[in-house]
Amino acid sequence: MIDVLEVNNVSYRYQRKQVLYDITFTVEKGEIFGILGPNGSGKTTLLKLLSKELSVQSGSITVNGRPLPSFSHKEWARFAAVLPQTIDAAFGYTVKETVELGRYAHQHRLLPMWTEEDEQAVDAAIHEVGLTEKAGESIERLSGGERQRAYLARALAQNPELLLLDEPTNHMDITQQLHLLNQLVRSAKEKKLTVIAIFHDMNIASLYCDRLLMLKEGKAVALGTPEELMEPALLHSVFQSPVNKQAHPTVSKPLLAFLPERGLSAIEQRG
Ligand code: ADP
Repeated sequence: MIDVLEVNNVSYRYQRKQVLYDITFTVEKGEIFGILGPNGSGKTTLLKLLSKELSVQSGSITVNGRPLPSFSHKEWARFAAVLPQTIDAAFGYTVKETVELGRYAHQHRLLPMWTEEDEQAVDAAIHEVGLTEKAGESIERLSGGERQRAYLARALAQNPELLLLDEPTNHMDITQQLHLLNQLVRSAKEKKLTVIAIFHDMNIASLYCDRLLMLKEGKAVALGTPEELMEPALLHSVFQSPVNKQAHPTVSKPLLAFLPERGLSAIEQRG
């Protein structure tokens, strides 16, 4: 049971390039925690440290006080499901098979002992991302956004306690993003799942996250609730710096006002 995940003074370097500096934050059970920042600010590296794809070099990450390195990969995989940024599509499989494979591999079973519970978890996850009607479709025939949803279902079907998501709404238009995140947040809250997710859009992150961490050039420049971070000067300094012009999230308080109830109802009403 993950009650609290603590990241303390974590720094990280790839060979000679230091990409994270003294990152400290705590995430509590059931929280939706967003990581934001321009390209190259270290978001994916931080998520890879949390998923154990990379090993902690300095500082510490602990789960209920227990150091993350003391968990075997197998043990950690029982708690945490990951949606990586780039996924090698397993072509040739249907949506349902893709989700089944995720659940199967995650449980590290040697024999195919498929139970009713597995079947239900797979169907529920597919339903959750709105792909029930495409469950029998080959993964390569899906649009980019649908494929992303299938991979999210694969993570959800593992019944994790912690979801680590690298840009979960990649390849989706705004309506699809809101649909998916509404559903995801609703079920995360229901199941008391902890979610740590990278977002590239401040508006979207603000709608769904309880708290946000902003990275810039590997340093934590802000940590707080979306309301606390909606400071034009802060956002300008993080996202509009001359060193990185790729990320220009459309920050506007009016959008938040325009999208009550986490956005979707307003858009649906308009549509
Ligand atoms: P973000 O997710 O915010 O775009 P990343 O964590 O992917 O940032 O990357 C942070 C920095 O680390 C970037 O400058 C990137 O080029 C560098 N980097 C990422 N992966 C590697 C790697 N495997 N080897 C060397 N440098 C890397």
